[in-house]
Amino acid sequence: MELNICHLYPDILNLYGDRGNIITMKRRLESRGISVNVDECSIGQPLDVDKYDIFFIGGGQDFEQEVLLRDLASGKAQEIRNAVEDEKTFLAICGGYQMLGQYYKTWDGVQLDFIGAINVHTIGAKERMIGNYMFTCDELNCEIVGFENHSGKTYLGEGVAPLGTMLSGNGNNGEDKTEGARYKNVFGTYSHGSLLPKNPVLCDFILQTALNRRCGSAEPLAPLDDTLENNAHRYMQERLSHK
Ligand code: GLN
Repeated sequence: MELNICHLYPDILNLYGDRGNIITMKRRLESRGISVNVDECSIGQPLDVDKYDIFFIGGGQDFEQEVLLRDLASGKAQEIRNAVEDEKTFLAICGGYQMLGQYYKTWDGVQLDFIGAINVHTIGAKERMIGNYMFTCDELNCEIVGFENHSGKTYLGEGVAPLGTMLSGNGNNGEDKTEGARYKNVFGTYSHGSLLPKNPVLCDFILQTALNRRCGSAEPLAPLDDTLENNAHRYMQERLSHK
């Protein structure tokens, strides 16, 4: 079995080592004997969504998000909307997460109309929300540790569930205790960098959605030795619990 991952805009949306999430997905699949092919698709390159099982979009600042608008409007936005409705798996971080939504009104009043693949919208605030954070993932009944840095406050619309409930930090908007978004097989989150390396349970859950879609209902992924990953997770969990 082979899974195909598409890394969208890797040269433009890639903050704080977001790319590490792809390395983690690849390694964890290969450890189970599943081969992985990773393609990159950026500005001006055609996107054939039918080829892929998983799409990854990292974070970027307002400037980079604006730069992408023309490329999205030239066809990729429709392709991405189709792939989302077709229940392909998406992991989108911060700026990439915002981009899947309806629009982003920046703190200085510029409105960026995004692709509307998921029913969320974002309003910029003057103060940035920065730091390590922690939330419970309702679907997985576990705690996820991460790092956020954004000025956009994201609000979930009808049909979209939060990925989790905040325990420490801001998450979607610092107001309603929600973090991230779930719609079909889309996972949106504000958590940058080593999200999947530090949260192997979430990584396997995301991978399982892609395997299930591909095979009808796939065998559950076999457990791996996650001692190091769980140590990193526990360390952050303890730090954030005592804040
Ligand atoms: N530009 C967005 C914001 O500041 C996203 C930032 C990011 O991806 N870190 O809200």
